[in-house]
Amino acid sequence: MRIRVGFGFDVHPLEEGRDLWLGGVKIPATKGATGHSDADVLIHAICDAILGAANLGDIGTHFQNTDPRWAGMDSKFFLKEVCRMIAAKGWKVENVDCSITLEAPKVKPHIPAMRQALAPLMGVAEEDVSIKATTNEKLGYVGRMEGLNAYAVVLISRS
Ligand code: MG
Repeated sequence: MRIRVGFGFDVHPLEEGRDLWLGGVKIPATKGATGHSDADVLIHAICDAILGAANLGDIGTHFQNTDPRWAGMDSKFFLKEVCRMIAAKGWKVENVDCSITLEAPKVKPHIPAMRQALAPLMGVAEEDVSIKATTNEKLGYVGRMEGLNAYAVVLISRS
């Protein structure tokens, strides 16, 4: 069996009047993420980690943020597509570990729903999807609620 590791990072600005989609779940918040698609920063970081593990470029290569087809797109579609792309090369996801940095609201109560939403898209058990969240201790753009970050590490395997 061959295994590969991949890493992904993403950032989106926060703005009032936008929805906050995180890990495929809409979270009640005063500020939501802006972007071309639904701006789900966590899914985008996971997509980049999976693509990186398989050396297939990044999410922007496959789903350009100037393409009208992806305007307002549900990012769960991107994750499903990315997993289909690596499956075509014989790879499958083994596990994912992620961190989100966001000053508010508290992400922790929504983590079980995110794991439930993401696991089937990647063909893994909820047990194989780890999501953590932390504030940025009020420092920098995250601390000022101007944006949020997500980081993801993924292991893929091929028999
Ligand atoms: Mg993004």
